[in-house]
Order: sequence, then structure tokens, then C-alpha cells
Amino acid sequence: MDRSSAAVERVFNFSPGPAVLPLEVLERAQAELVALPGVGMSVLEISHRSPPFDRILEETLQGLRDLLKVGADHEIVLLQGGASLQFSMVPMNLLRGQSGAADYILTGTWGTTGAKEARREGKVHVAWDGAATKYDRLPVAGEIALSPNPAYVHITSNETIQGVQWKRDPQVGSAPLVCDCSSDFLSRPIDVAKHGLIYACAQKNAGIAGVTVVIIRKDLLARSRDDLPTMLDYRTYVSNGSRPNTPPVFAIYILGLVCNWIRDTMGGLAGMHTHNVAKAKLLYDVLDGSGGFYAGHARPDCRSDMNVTFRLPDETLEKEFVKAAAGHGLMDLKGHRSVGGIRASIYNAMPVAGVTALRDFMVDFQQARRS
Ligand SMILES: *Cc1c(COP(=O)(O)O)cnc(C)c1O
Repeated sequence: MDRSSAAVERVFNFSPGPAVLPLEVLERAQAELVALPGVGMSVLEISHRSPPFDRILEETLQGLRDLLKVGADHEIVLLQGGASLQFSMVPMNLLRGQSGAADYILTGTWGTTGAKEARREGKVHVAWDGAATKYDRLPVAGEIALSPNPAYVHITSNETIQGVQWKRDPQVGSAPLVCDCSSDFLSRPIDVAKHGLIYACAQKNAGIAGVTVVIIRKDLLARSRDDLPTMLDYRTYVSNGSRPNTPPVFAIYILGLVCNWIRDTMGGLAGMHTHNVAKAKLLYDVLDGSGGFYAGHARPDCRSDMNVTFRLPDETLEKEFVKAAAGHGLMDLKGHRSVGGIRASIYNAMPVAGVTALRDFMVDFQQARRS
């Protein structure tokens, strides 16, 4: 990857979100910031109902549809309020008025937060909870106890804080599967047809803060009730083409650029996935070969390709690690306070060179402590 020109001072950014963006996307946005080609005004300045923005919105939605192979049974809408607002909107729209409970499979902090919000709206059944082992794993076959006739079953495809990622979707029978894909969205193909609803904020892996993607099966829109506030009703976004009011225009524009980058540079979602798995392996190989010096938080069969979480032998060493890494231009590696240790977020846009630099640093750091 070209790290020349305007970007000579860029470091490797392992932040969990907002997170690293493709350099090509930043440079394109920079080039077009003062005036969109042929428009003479910035995307930040034009009306959200102008023809140039019509095109940006349509291209972004089409980019998502093409990458994810979204079929005719599903709608894609763009919203604000982050993934956190979806913790409320999902149960408001899909649980209100239903006889069954909403089932939550809890594999980490975000799913737990979502379930807490759903409880404000209706009946929640925890179908599995990984709290007993500090959310270091997924349920194994037979451990998930669904309620009778659930309104939906909610999972978090990648738990950003613990670094636990589903590699295969769970079997949930005929209940709609609802997935918070915030931190691995567009990192790999998704079988959209198998989902009732998918939501993801953009700032982890697909763009910048301000826009949230919701993909919903059309028949589920009939569950939304007329007593919902207009702006919390999915139907509002579907019937107004994601533009009931002023949408986050710049975030939508960046999301569109990221889609194009994945399509044109990374080989679509299949190529993106191969790339991400290879990057994660570079770090997990260090963990596995470290004789326990680097102890992974997540169990090997479910560890994340996006957020690599691990501990060092003690907290003093962990502090030293983070500080010394920053000295090498490897930034923001401190783990979330609830898990401790180190978290390396290596989303789509983290180049292989960044992961290789971190790997080499880890090997050297361990060696220096041994000699
Ligand atoms: C970051 C994150 C959220 C919260 O996203 P916001 O846009 O800050 O509300 C929710 N779920 C997951 C899995 C996340 O990674």
C-alpha cells in the first residue's frame, strides 16, 4: 500500500472504533472535499435532496446490495443513532405486541447491553450466557435453550470487547435471526437470506460514525405498530428511501467509498475475508507460539479476525507493552477496561504491513523479557 505523499506521518492505528480507514478512501475524500467533480460544491454543503446526493445515496445502497448479495426479500435502510439506538429500535419494532419473548444469546458486552435495552420494551429470554467464563467462547451445540416461539433470536456476530466471533450462524429454527454485525460488517460474506434483521454502525469496519446500516426482511416490517414514534419506526426509513429527514450525508458518502474500495481493490467480501483471516493468523500464531507469554482471551475456535484480545503475564508488562508499541508507531492497543490486557483491532483497512509490524514487535518484546 502506498503510504507516501500526504500520508507520510500516518501511524498504524489499532483503535477499536472509530477506526482506521483505507488510505485510498481518505485521499479520495480529501480530493473531493472542497468540490465534488462536476458539482463545484462539497458533499458537506449540497442539499440532501439534490441530484448529486441522490446519486451518492443510490450508489452507496447499491454498493451494499452488491457486496452482500441482498435479495428481493430484504430492504436496506440507513439510519442515525449508532448501533446503540438499534438496541432499542429492534425490540420496539419486532417485539412490541408479540406474544413470544425476544431471545438473546449473550457472548459479550454488546449483546448484554442490547438485551438490557430490550427488557425495557418487553419480555426477554436469555437463551445462553457466556458470563461464567468471562465471555471467552460461543455456545456449543445443545447449549442454546430457546424459548417457545421467540419473537426473534439476537446474536452479536463479533463481540468487539472480548474478541469472540461467530464462525457459523446458530440454528434458530423458524424464528427471525437478528444480528448486531457492527464490528465485522463487510469483513466477510453474510448469508443475508438467513437473517430477519442485520444492523451495523459504520465506524468499526465500514466507514465513519454517524450512519447505521439496517437490513430487514420485508415481511417483518408488518410488525411495527402505529404507536411508534415516526423516527423510531423502520417503515419510515423504507418508505422514504432512508431520507425522512436530513441523513448523515458525509458518513453515507464515506460508506459508499468504502464499498467501492472493497469491490475494486479487495476482491469483494470473499477477498476481504481471505485478507482478514490471513492478518489475524499472523497475530494468533504469535500467541500460540509464545508458550503462554501472550494468553489469548477468546478460545481458539471462536476468536475474532477483527479484535485480537490477549493478556501478558502481569499488568506492569501490559502497560510497558502499550507504551513501547506506541513508540514504534503502533497505536491504541490497550484493551477495554472490562477485559484488561491488549486488544489489537485489525479491521478491513488495517494493512498487512501494520499487522506484520505488530507481530514483529510482539516477538521482540517477548524475547527482550526472556534474555
Ligand atoms: C461499537 C459497537 C456498538 C455500539 O455502537 P455505537 O454506534 O457506538 O452505538 C454496538 N455493538 C457492537 C458489536 C459494537 O462493536
